[in-house]
Amino acid sequence: MTALLEVEDLRVAYGKIEAVKGISFSVEAGQVVTLIGTNGAGKTTTLRTLSGLLKPAGGRIVFDGKPLDGIPAHKIVALGLAHSPEGRHIFPRLSIAENLQLGAFLRSDKAGIAQDIERAYELFPILRERSKQAAGTLSGGEQQMLAMGRALMSRPKLLMLDEPSMGLSPIMMQKIMSTITELRSQGTTILLVEQNAQAALSLADRGHVMEVGKVVLSGSGEQLLHDESVRKAYLGED
Ligand code: ATP
Repeated sequence: MTALLEVEDLRVAYGKIEAVKGISFSVEAGQVVTLIGTNGAGKTTTLRTLSGLLKPAGGRIVFDGKPLDGIPAHKIVALGLAHSPEGRHIFPRLSIAENLQLGAFLRSDKAGIAQDIERAYELFPILRERSKQAAGTLSGGEQQMLAMGRALMSRPKLLMLDEPSMGLSPIMMQKIMSTITELRSQGTTILLVEQNAQAALSLADRGHVMEVGKVVLSGSGEQLLHDESVRKAYLGED
C-alpha cells in the first residue's frame, strides 16, 4: 500500500538559513504519526511547507498519490490536507459557530456541513454551550478545541496539528490527547507536532525525532517512548 503522505528528502530554507535539511517520513492512512523535538528543530516549518504556506527548496511531497509541488495552499486544503496551526489562529470576534462554518469554506453541501458542526459539538460539548459567543472569550484550551473542530470541517484525509497541548493545563491536555485518540478510532489520519513527547508518543503509531532540521531517530511510538536517548533528551530522565 502506498502511504497517504510521503515526504522525501524535504528541504526548506528561510533565505540562506536551512531550517529543514532533507527529511523523509511517511504517514499511512489511519495512523497517528508524531514529529517531536526541541524548539527550532523544524517541526512547524515542515507542517507549513506541507500546507503550501512555504515553498520547499528541494525534495518531494506526495499526498494521496499527487505531488504537491507548486500547488497553492487553498488547493491543498481541497485535496484533503487540513492544518490546525500553532497558536490556534481562531477569529476572536466571530462566534464559535461562525469559526466552525469558516472551516467549511470550500464546501457547499449544507446538510453535510451541519452534520460536521454537530460532530464538532459532540467531540467538544463546551463549543455547543458557547456557540453564539465570540471565540475570543474562550480559554486557551477551548480555543484549541475550536481550532481542531474548525480544521475537521474540511473533512480532511489528513489532519495536521501543531502543538495542540501548548500552554494548556494538564486536564485540558488530557482532553485534547484523548480526542486525538478518538479521532483516530473514527478513521482520521493525524500528523501531530508536539513538544510534549511523552503524551505524543503514548498515542502515536509512529514517531520521528527532529533535531536541527533533521530526523535523527524514527520508530513506533512505543519504541521511542522506551528509547534511552529519547528518555534522556525529551522525557526529562537522567
Ligand atoms: P518550535 O517548537 O519552537 O515552533 P520548531 O521545531 O517548530 O520549533 P521551526 O519553527 O520550524 O521549529 O523553526 C526551525 C528553524 O527555522 C529555527 O531555527 C527558526 O529560528 C527558523 N525560523 C522559523 N521561522 C523563521 C522565519 N520566518 N524566518 C527565519 N527563520 C525562521
